[in-house]
Amino acid sequence: MPVDNSRLKGFYKLSIPERRAMLAELAGLSEEQVQAWADAELDEDVADRMIENVIGTYSLPIGVATNFIIDNEHYLIPFVLEEPSVVAAASNMAKRCHAKGGFTSNNDEPVMIGQIQVVGCENPEDARGSIMAAKADLIDSCNEVDPILVKFGGGCRDVQARIIETESGPMVIVHILVDCRDAMGANAVNTMAETIAPKVEGITGGTVILRIISNLAVHRLARVSAVFTPAEMADKGDASQGSEVIDGILQAYHFAKADPFRATTHNKGIMNAISPIAIACGQDWRAVESGAHSFASHERTYGSLTHWEKDPDGNLVGSIELPMAVGLVGGAVRVHPAAQANVALLGISSANDLAKVMAAAGLAQNLGALRALATVGIQVGHMKLHVRNMAVTAGAEGGEVDIVAARIRAHGGRITQKAVEEELAKLRSE
Ligand code: NAD
Repeated sequence: MPVDNSRLKGFYKLSIPERRAMLAELAGLSEEQVQAWADAELDEDVADRMIENVIGTYSLPIGVATNFIIDNEHYLIPFVLEEPSVVAAASNMAKRCHAKGGFTSNNDEPVMIGQIQVVGCENPEDARGSIMAAKADLIDSCNEVDPILVKFGGGCRDVQARIIETESGPMVIVHILVDCRDAMGANAVNTMAETIAPKVEGITGGTVILRIISNLAVHRLARVSAVFTPAEMADKGDASQGSEVIDGILQAYHFAKADPFRATTHNKGIMNAISPIAIACGQDWRAVESGAHSFASHERTYGSLTHWEKDPDGNLVGSIELPMAVGLVGGAVRVHPAAQANVALLGISSANDLAKVMAAAGLAQNLGALRALATVGIQVGHMKLHVRNMAVTAGAEGGEVDIVAARIRAHGGRITQKAVEEELAKLRSE
């Protein structure tokens, strides 16, 4: 179950152990789960089983984004990343759609595509026809491979075939469409594709080469939308100022829509939320990333993964649509203790829930960047939070870090590494 309330006032002021204790209580976590957060390092035996040639582990902060209401339920969302101001921006923006009820999802079924490449067909068009005629039999053969997936309501749903022209001549490309339920599905789909390959060769008279999942998961799209009122978009609740902010956001969005140079950075901002949640929850984040960017140029010039417009009442309406190949069984999610704790914090029980949380966070993150860019610029907020890293870079230790950061922020001027170094020298001379 997600939490009762994601609005954690003053959470940022607590110590790290206090934050953990509060979340444990709110989300009903076990001592073991909380301990997984506290143990900064992954057990080496676990690590050694995860990949090859292990020499150690590498840790990053886990931060929690607050204020998310999705489909009328409150979520606290774990992010694993190195970049300051991302978690704060997501939490801040998530709060700004509460008046209209928060985020609403409308995801596809979890259907992935497996590709089977057939070369050397005497007549590719006839081969394609033969595949289509044998569709029912091919679907049955796929489903015999994974009775567990079928038992959980998944399995092969369809078979498609098309001919592509390549430098090696025409190829028949067969797609198996597999409902992966709560799995990301790469292993499941690859096994099916490999198993039915001999049958495909028999049907087409060609030779099968590749049998592999496609990360362009166009049948497994996550869709989330939200409405932000002018008063919520304002700095301090002034609706007319909020309307100006909304107009600026729309102009910033139209820039991304029209220009791939901008759209790439715009989408990077969206992935600032999506990839950290994927990592936090033990997902294959490269699969999610490749699917997202490919979808951003699928059947169009590379463009925005989000859509923004104004409704007749002057509210800002935002939506996001992108492939979301994530799972709660398989992969690393059941192996990595911190990933398990993070999934428990989310209180989710299906891959679909994780997909909608990631999409909602991506939409909020995008709004955070657009709003900052269209108003004060991105650097003000970012540098304020980055200044602690700068103090560490300058050599500050222990309590010095926060003192230097506070003094630099209090100056209110431009935050530069030189200014931070000077402030540290001044502090040490006092
Ligand atoms: P998996 O094979 O470990 O788990 C999926 C299996 O779990 C299913 O086939 C099913 O038999 C079983 N299962 C039990 N309960 C289920 C439920 N409720 N819903 C669905 N299945 C259930 O993992 P996977 O998801 O098939 O593969 C994911 C892994 O594949 C990731 O580690 C990923 O990194 C890796 N991978 C990715 C790519 C790629 O993205 N291109 C390629 C190869 C491998």
